[in-house]
Amino acid sequence: MSANLNTLITEMSREANSTGPLDDRRVAVKDNICTADVPTTCASNMLETYVPPYDATVVRHVLDAGGTLIGKANMDEFGMGSTTETSAFGPTRNPVDPSRVPGGSSGGSAAAVASGAADLALGSDTGGSVRNPAAFCGVVGIKPTYGLVSRYGLVAYANSLEQIGPIGATVADAAMLLDVISGPDRHDATSVAAGANTAYAEAANGNVEGMTVGVPDDLLEGASPGVAAVFADAMAKLEAAGATVTDIAIEGLEHAVAAYYVIAMSEASSNLARFDGVRYGMGSPESGDWNEQYAAVRSAGFGTEVTRRILLGTFALSAGYQDRYYRQAQSARAWLGREFDDAFASVDLIASPTMPTTAYELGTSLDDPLQLYIADANTVPANLANLPAISVPGGDDGGLPVGIQFMAPQFEEGRMIRAASAVEAATS
Ligand code: GLN
Repeated sequence: MSANLNTLITEMSREANSTGPLDDRRVAVKDNICTADVPTTCASNMLETYVPPYDATVVRHVLDAGGTLIGKANMDEFGMGSTTETSAFGPTRNPVDPSRVPGGSSGGSAAAVASGAADLALGSDTGGSVRNPAAFCGVVGIKPTYGLVSRYGLVAYANSLEQIGPIGATVADAAMLLDVISGPDRHDATSVAAGANTAYAEAANGNVEGMTVGVPDDLLEGASPGVAAVFADAMAKLEAAGATVTDIAIEGLEHAVAAYYVIAMSEASSNLARFDGVRYGMGSPESGDWNEQYAAVRSAGFGTEVTRRILLGTFALSAGYQDRYYRQAQSARAWLGREFDDAFASVDLIASPTMPTTAYELGTSLDDPLQLYIADANTVPANLANLPAISVPGGDDGGLPVGIQFMAPQFEEGRMIRAASAVEAATS
């Protein structure tokens, strides 16, 4: 089944270094996370022949905890997308309905877990790329607080926004993998000790007694009727389990998508400048001066969406436009962070549908990139505000999974894991 779904770009078999909580668990790793002596392509022609000489810190943690690595998971090229259709190696299919996308950009990771090809998977989440495919495939995905998990060995798309996150079939599985990969790392100066070694798996106990959950209107606006109904039902179940669900207003959410894409594209244009065909992957053509070679290699190596983002990001950072776009976006980001701080003074968690709709039909969404960007409205706020967030299956709409998202204050992963496990217990 997994071969047809195209979940893995490279199959591999690396046994654990020792025993631990991941004993006998098969783990798939998104192909933008470095694995020593195994290709790490970012699903791009640019890196098709790149073989890293070292393991990412999260990969070392998995092997030290008893996990077996089974392969490198398909993704949108360099993490830029929401459907896994921008992969240079072809799309992954959704195991629930193979005529649909698995979501993205960590679509191969989520589909590997949903199909049973892997027990657990690692993805990366810059603006929703763990939670979106988790929602579309009916599995659990966690985007940790910025700094909780080391990014050493993650090929950068937009450093200030992204975190590596776990995907599992259950809340307890995803939480356990978070226990394994979290913690400070001297190779990543942005990683922090706060909250590390918290027993996340133990938080998957469904206890929401006395918890207050806020629901911002803005995050319900785009939801389809089917998704809205599943979400309302999940909130009712939370209340039945002892939580209080209340409306809440958060200013600035309407600017999140615009701010996110300006910042993400700006950082991407800078990060991807290093791919010149000389050092990693693709070789350079024989003749021409450096400018001609650089242009030729990059035109041949990058796909349409990546090229679009490099161009727009370069524009947003250029003299004369930087104040208008990049700095404005940074101001909006700071504002949103303060608004979330205020909100968390009165509620413990913030809930919303993870995605406004269920999974799209394959081949129907890439023609309208703006529409895809807008569909990230509920996931990008957590990245902008450096908050943790989780997506848990809440039910289905016409047979397709619907994800429920909880956001928590920084380093309060345990709180959102409790609420997600309450939804899980009430729906299964
Ligand atoms: N869909 C978003 C984007 O294309 C999120 C991607 C991600 O989280 N890597 O940027």
